[in-house]
Amino acid sequence: MTYLSIKVRGIVQGVGFRPFVYRVAQEWGVKGTVSNTPAGVDIRVHGDNGQVRLFLDALRDEAPPQAVIEELRVSETEPFEADSFEIAPSGGDGEKSVLVSPDLATCEDCVRELFDENDRRFRYPFINCTNCGPRFTIIGDTPYDRPLTSMAGFTMCPDCEREYNDPPDRRYHAQPNACSACGPTLWLADREGRRLEGDAILEAARLLGNGKIVAIKGLGGFHLACDATSDLAIGELRARKRRYAKPLAVMVGSIKQAKGYCEVSVDEEALLASTKSPIVLLPEKEDSPISRRVAGRLGHQGLFLPYTPIHHLLMAEVDFPLVMTSGNVSSEPIVTGNRKALRELSGIADGFLLHDRDILVRYDDSVTRVFEGKEYPIRRSRGYAPYPIRLTPASRIEVLALGAELKNTFCLLRGDQAFVSQHIGDMETLEELGHFNEALASMKRLFSLNPQVVSHDLHPDYLTTQMALDVPLPAVGVQHHHAHIVSCMADNRVEGEVIGVAWDGTGYGEDGTIWGGEFMLCDEKGYRRLAHLYPYPMPGSDACIYKLHRMAMGVLSETWDNPESALARLRGLRDVGDEEGAVLIMQLEKGLNSPLTSSAGRLFDVAAFMAGIRSIAQYDGQAACELEAVALGTREHYEFILDQSNEPWVIDTRPLFREIMADLETGTDPGEIAGKFHRTMALAVVETCVELNKETGIGRVALSGGVFQNKLLLSEVVQGLRTSGLEPLVHYRVPCNDGGISLGQAVVAANTYAS
Ligand code: ZN
Ligand code: ZN
Ligand code: FE
Repeated sequence: MTYLSIKVRGIVQGVGFRPFVYRVAQEWGVKGTVSNTPAGVDIRVHGDNGQVRLFLDALRDEAPPQAVIEELRVSETEPFEADSFEIAPSGGDGEKSVLVSPDLATCEDCVRELFDENDRRFRYPFINCTNCGPRFTIIGDTPYDRPLTSMAGFTMCPDCEREYNDPPDRRYHAQPNACSACGPTLWLADREGRRLEGDAILEAARLLGNGKIVAIKGLGGFHLACDATSDLAIGELRARKRRYAKPLAVMVGSIKQAKGYCEVSVDEEALLASTKSPIVLLPEKEDSPISRRVAGRLGHQGLFLPYTPIHHLLMAEVDFPLVMTSGNVSSEPIVTGNRKALRELSGIADGFLLHDRDILVRYDDSVTRVFEGKEYPIRRSRGYAPYPIRLTPASRIEVLALGAELKNTFCLLRGDQAFVSQHIGDMETLEELGHFNEALASMKRLFSLNPQVVSHDLHPDYLTTQMALDVPLPAVGVQHHHAHIVSCMADNRVEGEVIGVAWDGTGYGEDGTIWGGEFMLCDEKGYRRLAHLYPYPMPGSDACIYKLHRMAMGVLSETWDNPESALARLRGLRDVGDEEGAVLIMQLEKGLNSPLTSSAGRLFDVAAFMAGIRSIAQYDGQAACELEAVALGTREHYEFILDQSNEPWVIDTRPLFREIMADLETGTDPGEIAGKFHRTMALAVVETCVELNKETGIGRVALSGGVFQNKLLLSEVVQGLRTSGLEPLVHYRVPCNDGGISLGQAVVAANTYAS
């Protein structure tokens, strides 16, 4: 007889793990108990040696698809009595370290039942099972049991109760288990909140078919939906939401439909259909019926598949793709409550598809893309968070990192687990700050995290910097681009020194200028700035991010060493009024409100402006994305000079802009200019890294910062580095943009605090 105690750690709650253990125990005839604890799942078994061994093998090899076993600790234990195998009540004490499962897209079995007239859940909009459904968004506390979720208020009917208590059933202990007799209900309301007659799904579909906008309560917040093929409906949505230009996500009914609108590779198809069900950025097809107003001139669409029963029911009733954008008022976090939705979205939506299962955690859709067969995240949220990023080596201390300002996340680091939060959004308003604090409190509670150190950006004006200084913990400031590179290192589980290339729009530099085209010799502790792009003045400072001709003026004035002559050239590209011209010259001559920046993002803007793509950006990065979209493949490039006379080296891009101006005079095609510009920027990265490798002997190159969301640049750089015998490190678990900053901050703080 063998008596064992088995402790299983990882994502083992809410994924059908205990029923699985129960079935395996029956199969091999072992006796004992299994239970949820705040740390995971604990099992006690006895049986003869052979039985117990086979039981253990099955535990390891046959775990349910959504379970992630991170650790399985087996030890001998005192003999105990048991004449059957049972699921014991959850234990409530001890350290909370169980990993909470992200929400999971509706599984195939549930979809089949949803559309099966003979099933008792036919068309029930909240169907779920142990393999699918809401998790993180309905959890108030751990262990993950119904009384601690927003399902607590729904008492199961006898049929549901039977499934819930029947170990072989696929709804055994499925905490959100429900049916139309006992569970949450769905209804359609008008703008005043009045419940409308008729089938909620059919009526919502009818509104959408008539070009109306419907607010739909989802897993982690509201969506605003409309017909993605209707210019009119989208125009209305954009005007009412005051989201004039940013691309909108589109939900399609199936992979087959997705392929009608976009090019979809095997890897992209797998991502679309995964239980994470993210928005995947895909190259748009020429003849796609999706309105140009969805993604403008970006050349790609963000598509995703239905991931809740409500989506499946709705998509079955409409014969067009749906714009599904987060239901928020411009620059505020996504709305989660019915009353708040009616109050805040009534000026936008014509109808409201509401339900009475509360959303406890805000959870935006994730956005991702594929690079070289691997995932390349843009926004890490639903389906991913709060699953931790595993790190090597483990941290000795617990750290809270607050991130930067835009596209923010925070990160709680403990041991080898980095809990990078779901996407929080921009941190500029009180509402956004509220969302941040709410998400932080819930994460700390769920995982019993108690950070000893707080880490933050060096930018004195960021809200997150202010917050860090208000927290009663020792604070560690981390330079923005250092954080980007260390986040890429941590993402790739790389330690020690690397050459880091951090290219982005804006980051606070330690010399008081704005950085963003940086080459650093870097490790987890510190960095040396070895090279950077030529710094240009930004006349009018942040105004340059949107008024691209202003940034172009900054570039031209350095390129021709004379503001007057620069203005004349600028006027060749665009009308500039006398007054504005005088202000620009005054700002540049006197250095008034014209900080210097080495930002790579700004140079993409200027190239796009010069190529005639646009002169006003409606959001940060728009012009650069459009420049990428029109770029033609070319082996030609412009000149640049790597000036190695001083440390840090400077990559002088003035010859490049002189050549673009010359190309314009000969009437070169904008696509040609865009292609040559991308190639030049890629060569600048590769050549600089090759020279830095000669100096330092270091061959690993970490690529990070929002500019590397540019797939054309990224692939040219990666290929160029490899051809030169260097090893590129590319993000695959966290975004290269500021959504990944908190991870880098946390790792730097863990390595520098008290050491
Ligand atoms: Zn299911
Ligand atoms: Zn029921
Ligand atoms: Fe950045």
